[in-house]
Amino acid sequence: MARKKMVVVRGGRLVDIAKHAAPPADILIEGDTVKEIGRPGLAAPADAEVIDAKGMLMHPGLVNGHTHGHGVLAKGMGDKWTLELLLTAAPWIGGNRTAEDKYLSTFLGAAEMLLKGCTAAYDLTFEFPAPTPEGIAACGQAYADAGMRAVLAPMVADFSFFEVIPGLVDAMPAALRADTERYRLAPRQQTLSAIRKALKAWKFDQDLIKPAVAPTIPHHCSDPFLTGCFRLAREFGAPIQSHVQESKVQVVVGQKLWGLTQTGHLDKLGMLGPDFSVAHGVWLDRDDMRRLADHGSSVVHNPGSNMRLGNGIADTRGMLDLGVNLGVGTDGASCSDNQNMYEAMRLASFASKVRGPDTDRWLSTDEVLIAATEGSAKALGFGDKVGRIAPGYKADIVFLDLAAINWLPLNDATNQIVHTEDGTSVHSVMVGGRMVVRDRKLVGVDLASLVGKVEAARARLAKANAENKKMFERLEGVVNRFCPGLARTPYHIDHFAGGHHDHQH
Ligand SMILES: [Zn+2]
Repeated sequence: MARKKMVVVRGGRLVDIAKHAAPPADILIEGDTVKEIGRPGLAAPADAEVIDAKGMLMHPGLVNGHTHGHGVLAKGMGDKWTLELLLTAAPWIGGNRTAEDKYLSTFLGAAEMLLKGCTAAYDLTFEFPAPTPEGIAACGQAYADAGMRAVLAPMVADFSFFEVIPGLVDAMPAALRADTERYRLAPRQQTLSAIRKALKAWKFDQDLIKPAVAPTIPHHCSDPFLTGCFRLAREFGAPIQSHVQESKVQVVVGQKLWGLTQTGHLDKLGMLGPDFSVAHGVWLDRDDMRRLADHGSSVVHNPGSNMRLGNGIADTRGMLDLGVNLGVGTDGASCSDNQNMYEAMRLASFASKVRGPDTDRWLSTDEVLIAATEGSAKALGFGDKVGRIAPGYKADIVFLDLAAINWLPLNDATNQIVHTEDGTSVHSVMVGGRMVVRDRKLVGVDLASLVGKVEAARARLAKANAENKKMFERLEGVVNRFCPGLARTPYHIDHFAGGHHDHQH
């Protein structure tokens, strides 16, 4: 058997997250895996390739626990949108996508994440009216071509937003009701069998690009659909992610439908487990958190998206105290507008602090950085091989330029990665032992050559979705009157004593 390629990284400093330190360290890499970490001058085979990391701070690749590759072509299209308005805008901002658009959107997202120090992502990708094996393969190819690790899940449901919000359609003039028909999704069986086909035909190396299943929002799915997704995930060893208790409208609807929280309902259906992750969880109560902790499930915190859509601020301290695995994500560019995990970490830290002056309830920078690496990796189902720079883990390493403005001076590596870094110091990025960003540029990708392609796609989609945009404008007013009204339904969250959560009552 041929010996695997050996690489030794010399002269850099390696963050020690817990100690807030950055001691000098050399790293020996065999194939795609870290073999040994040692003091400067670490012994390496004579034929090992040497990477010079002088003047660099190395940290584990950031892991984006929740995003949507399809959202990238829609960056910046909205401003004062609630989650419910964003769902109403979906046909306008995401409609009429060709397989090439799906590839391009996902590729741009991967490129942005890599350039900003993120080496793996959990991508929930949407196709209307049902997923297709070809569409999913196009998105997988985008990550493969960018050289990024990903968990890729068809984002699915069997009911549209308009079918599941009690009273919403009734509140509309008859003329508008016809519009809502155009949101109707494919029948349950068609969607489930498309997922099965995609999982069966998976052609990517699952260490790099792994499939998952994403029943998008629990009440957008019938019980047989949810359990159908669960059975498929089990059969193919795929993780599951869902948007759970993201907005107050969602918890109010859950109470109306089931007399339960979404988490309670999923638990009742037997869907919680170590392979299950919640995206958002802004409106989780202590009982929900306990259920998730008991099942070893994860919550991926997306503070940027939660703020932008007015959903509130998740109780991340409560989750950690109760033993829930916590990850961090950006959410899609259509609701957070960038794919910057440094910003997501900074907001995760600040959001925990804005809740009140009790510093015991705050997240520390080391907790945030661990959540954005190990925590997210666990949510992706990569917990045993991604998220740390340690022997046996994949060599996913970010190299920050210590001569960049963010690091003059370097006082505390952990605090500065979370609070100071904004992505502009990312010099190089390695995924699985392979350099994918070098000297601030993607390796083998000429972004300038994409400019014309992206503009052509944007212009064509704007034209193709002009009718959908008009439909959004017709529906916007009624959705934006009805849903905030529904959100005024009293709903008490049993949070921790001493906190300041008045905004959630
Ligand atoms: Zn999302």
